[in-house]
Amino acid sequence: MKYYVNENCIGCGLCVSTCPDYFTMADTGVAVAMDAPVPVEHEGEAANAAYGCPVDAIEQVG
Ligand code: SF4
Repeated sequence: MKYYVNENCIGCGLCVSTCPDYFTMADTGVAVAMDAPVPVEHEGEAANAAYGCPVDAIEQVG
């Protein structure tokens, strides 16, 4: 399972708070996902982050 953050991100930081091992804030003020599959132990947190994003900016790929 892998995610990426699309252009809808408003930089609220919720995903970084929910799953800091997979999402980080970029210098540009928006979130970015690791360019790698979610480690198995963080799949639940990552899914919660995607579900919780207020603007549906986190998309699942693969
Ligand atoms: S929760 Fe959504 S809008 Fe907020 S920082 Fe993460 S991707 Fe961006």
